[in-house]
Amino acid sequence: MSEQPPVDEVAAPTAPDPADDAGPSLVIDIQGVTKVFNPGRANQVDALAEIDLAVAPGEFVTLIGPSGCGKSTLLRLIASLVAPTSGSVLVNAKPAEQARLDRDYGMAFQTAGLFDWRSVVKNIELPLELMGWSKSDRRRRATEMLELVKLGEFAGHHPSELSGGMQQRVAIARALAFRPSLLLMDEPFGALDEMTREHMQDELLRIWTETGTTLVFVTHSIPEAVYLSTRVVVMSPRPGRIAATIPVDLGERSAATRDDPAFFAKVTEVRTALREEEA
Ligand code: ADP
Ligand code: MG
Repeated sequence: MSEQPPVDEVAAPTAPDPADDAGPSLVIDIQGVTKVFNPGRANQVDALAEIDLAVAPGEFVTLIGPSGCGKSTLLRLIASLVAPTSGSVLVNAKPAEQARLDRDYGMAFQTAGLFDWRSVVKNIELPLELMGWSKSDRRRRATEMLELVKLGEFAGHHPSELSGGMQQRVAIARALAFRPSLLLMDEPFGALDEMTREHMQDELLRIWTETGTTLVFVTHSIPEAVYLSTRVVVMSPRPGRIAATIPVDLGERSAATRDDPAFFAKVTEVRTALREEEA
């Protein structure tokens, strides 16, 4: 043991102790954010108030709450598609706008938003094309992403030839084309039938594990939130606030998870938190 260097010489400088300084190690750091649409006008909407949210690398955080409570607005603030009225939004320790310009995140929505006049592989290539990637580089990356979502054989198909679930997998592949450290998803499985939806949840968890991407996911479904997440953020409306944060510690998910009493207990916990907000 005497040949071992002292511990403080071994410590890698690139691996700071998270307890040391939480700031730079966060993927998302939202502090004191409010969002008012149309301020001072008759149609003013206080969409968000007093939002503090920190997301660490590798987390899978789900936002849940009644329609109109500001879930999409919160996601759009992280994406720098809307600006906060007050407060700060940092993504990868930089202003959200810089993170957008740096393509630090990918985004997916309820509708896949694919172009049917382009083949599947060319849909995934589109953002890379817009960024001026060479033909061979973008084809290589798009093919890799198609393999990731297990649609390699469908590269030459057109989106309308695919099922709804497959189209969403193409949209996820496209969102991951820049290998972002963060994936933002707004009710991506909301339009799918129940069986397809459960299959997509497993696919998303596999992709999350394989890529190490941090995920922020919006849903209306309590079981979906519990099944997917490491943490469920319950929001309340008028104005949208974070009402509760519920850690979900169910380990690796499998078919058995959905029948696990611990799973039902978490579903009940989230449902109770949502009801308390309605009351
Ligand atoms: P959720 O996704 O939880 O259903 P949203 O974030 O879409 O809720 O909306 C929150 C509130 O903000 C709603 O009252 C909605 O009408 C309002 N809102 C959202 N976007 C805009 C906008 N661009 N202009 C005005 N009001 C908006
Ligand atoms: Mg929404």
